Amino acid sequence: MSSLSLSILQEVFGYGSFRGSQEDIVQHVIDGGDALVLMPTGGGKSLCYQVPAIARHRAGRGVTVVVSPLIALMHDQVGALDEVGVQSAYLNSSLSTEEAQRVERDMMSGKLVLLYAAPERVTHPRFQAQLQSLYERGLLSLFAIDEAHCVSQWGHDFREDYLQLSLLHERFPDVPRLALTATADDHTRADMIERLRLEQARVFISSFDRPNIRYTLVEKDNPRAQLLRFIRDEHEGDAGIVYCQSRKKVEDTAQWLSEQGIEALPYHAGLDASVRQRHQDRFLREDGLVMVATIAFGMGIDKPDVRFVAHLDLPKNIESYYQETGRAGRDGADADAWLTYGLADVVNQRRMIDESPASDEFKRIQRAKLDALLALAEACDCRRVRLLAYFGETSQPCGNCDNCLNPPATWDGTEAARKMLSCIYRFWQHGQHRFGAGHLIDVLRGKSTDKVQQYGHHTLSTFGIGQDLTENQWRAVLRQLIALGYLLAEGEFNTLGLTDSARAVLKGEVHLTLRQTQEPSRGARPAKRPAKAAHGVLLAELDALARERYESLRAWRAEVAREHNLPAYVVFHDVTLVDMARVAPQTLAELGTISGVGHKKLQAYGPQILTVLAPS
Ligand code: ADP
Ligand code: ZN
Repeated sequence: MSSLSLSILQEVFGYGSFRGSQEDIVQHVIDGGDALVLMPTGGGKSLCYQVPAIARHRAGRGVTVVVSPLIALMHDQVGALDEVGVQSAYLNSSLSTEEAQRVERDMMSGKLVLLYAAPERVTHPRFQAQLQSLYERGLLSLFAIDEAHCVSQWGHDFREDYLQLSLLHERFPDVPRLALTATADDHTRADMIERLRLEQARVFISSFDRPNIRYTLVEKDNPRAQLLRFIRDEHEGDAGIVYCQSRKKVEDTAQWLSEQGIEALPYHAGLDASVRQRHQDRFLREDGLVMVATIAFGMGIDKPDVRFVAHLDLPKNIESYYQETGRAGRDGADADAWLTYGLADVVNQRRMIDESPASDEFKRIQRAKLDALLALAEACDCRRVRLLAYFGETSQPCGNCDNCLNPPATWDGTEAARKMLSCIYRFWQHGQHRFGAGHLIDVLRGKSTDKVQQYGHHTLSTFGIGQDLTENQWRAVLRQLIALGYLLAEGEFNTLGLTDSARAVLKGEVHLTLRQTQEPSRGARPAKRPAKAAHGVLLAELDALARERYESLRAWRAEVAREHNLPAYVVFHDVTLVDMARVAPQTLAELGTISGVGHKKLQAYGPQILTVLAPS
């Protein structure tokens, strides 16, 4: 049997081998088992149900129903299957009556291999009756439930409609079900098993590592200039997402990038639905656009060639950070997750938690989650080890994050920390404590401002004891003391307060190794990428002629994509084009060996591609 799934993978999708646990999952489902698949974004979940759907259809078992919450994406998903010659369709409100009727006919005849529909349709009585009829005729092959975490109230994507999906098991008990998600926490997992009635399902948990994503977290110092340098130096002409917290910042940043010659579009919930749709479409369809967005953008964006995700503001927690950065590099080729953060971000996020109407318990959890993110931002060791540890995985230093590539310099910050903490302590003793970072640093550095005079802080014993460090360095000390849990910044005025553990520092019982501030303006350029891509080759490895071929192929692909009204990546992935440009096949047989070129695409496009590649 396993040779059947492998031959489908090769013949239909043109891929040489399965990734990770794909093969086991596919086999289990072909054999009729239920499964719960936890796999990171970009891990390759779609093939886990598409290959079994094809295998079971060939065996005469009929239609696979894919439940997906994202109506907007169904068109492209079906388009991609069409390109590889798998008969599939979707049913949603965007279809005309005649179109919907045709799809229903194809479904009822068992001709369709895959049918995509939203949960509210799948559980609708009319559709249930159709499923019943298929079932009685032995033509209901498999249910695939995508984004299965939507069934859990624990996460933020909860969808009422998903709760009804337990119906599928009750009505069609012997039709195998496969639930898939990229959300891994225990709570959500338990919810999925219980609510989707997956008690008998085999659970497949993949590593959540995304080895092709390079994590870089830099100190904020003129963030726009930093962002521009990052894009120009490393991602000229690439597609990317820039996340900002506010709508206004999204618009300003998009406009500013455009003025700098980087084509950028804004996306946030305050824009007209039609504008949002247009921008999303352009991002998916055109090459090399930058989307500047709030977190309203991204759920279910399965564009595989997003080469970077940049954050100009701190996300809420590590879960959000990982989900957002996970949208980079789904195709397995090198990608960057880049974040710039500063003290103000920390203070802002804290304030948002404090001011939210949620319960105290909820706020406590949110604060703890924010603290974990701060600790990641201030870490001196491997970012990936910390990220994976947060999700319960142990790993070794990765060699592909900023700290691994350029280990940060550290210094003995014990004395500085004591100075800072004791200065705050003096404020309290002095009877006034509502002071934020700016004032604190003024007092430490002995600056006699109006405020210092007003509160008599020039008379404190700690006034001017910190002239040895710059303001920037003090800010870094402050951030790290917050990240390490010695200091709290809270309340409306971001009042700084000592935690219980601060006492040990004041008493000289703990020794603090702190991260040296980065001096970004004259900081070292990032290390050159190691010559390893997870799959495929690097563009950088192409010689001049191969690059020319690559550009010609891209132009050809853009034309085909326009004709078919599909995103370019649906025609061929970048990695596939890079391979074609490098190998420069001269016959159809040679072309067919390239990863991503299956039978149908070889037939449909092979001759054109050979012409594009032929030396002129
Ligand atoms: P997910 O849904 O888990 O985020 P996808 O199913 O979209 O991931 O797959 C991510 C990308 O990886 C897709 O572009 C897909 O074509 C590619 N891919 C998946 N499995 C393989 C494989 N075995 N070999 C090569 N490419 C693969
Ligand atoms: Zn690392």
